[in-house]
Amino acid sequence: GVPADTLLAHVRDVPDFPEPGIVFKDITGLLVDGEAFAEAVRRLADIVPEGVELIAGMEARGFIVGAALAAHLGIGFVPIRKAGKLPPPTHRASYALEYGEAVLEVREGTVSPGARVLLVDDILATGGTAAAAADLVEQVGAEVVGVTFLLELLGLGGRDRLGGRVVSAVLSVE
Ligand code: 5GP
Repeated sequence: GVPADTLLAHVRDVPDFPEPGIVFKDITGLLVDGEAFAEAVRRLADIVPEGVELIAGMEARGFIVGAALAAHLGIGFVPIRKAGKLPPPTHRASYALEYGEAVLEVREGTVSPGARVLLVDDILATGGTAAAAADLVEQVGAEVVGVTFLLELLGLGGRDRLGGRVVSAVLSVE
């Protein structure tokens, strides 16, 4: 296996992207290395809560890690997209980002009422995206059994914003 610090070594800091003052964590290096990507997916699978029936991934890197995890587990995957990408009818939820504001949408009929859903994204920053995605899934009458990330950025209050939910991450950094 690949140790956690080795996985973290594949994540690059990009200062002042996408805006001045933001240090962007670039996970591309972790995806392009097949061994590291496979290890990351296995570690995600290790921390998945009991009873998950469906994974919902947030655009865009949540599609990559969420779909890989869903296929690894042999369960379904639903994309949660930014506004205007999905054909109607959709459910919508708006949210504030670390940088900016946005709307998330999910196709009506893709998440069944009562489904036990795991939300997956690459990075937990302020938690705004995940909180909106959780609202969206609950609007449909499904249950958010957990929220799982590849990397948690500590100190941005993401976990607090998701207060009361089962939050887990493979890696964490200050
Ligand atoms: P939050 O809503 O928690 O503030 O931000 C998380 C969302 O923004 C995730 O969808 C994540 O992909 C993206 N994001 C925020 N900061 C970063 C970052 O430093 N690196 C990457 N790769 N994504 C980020």
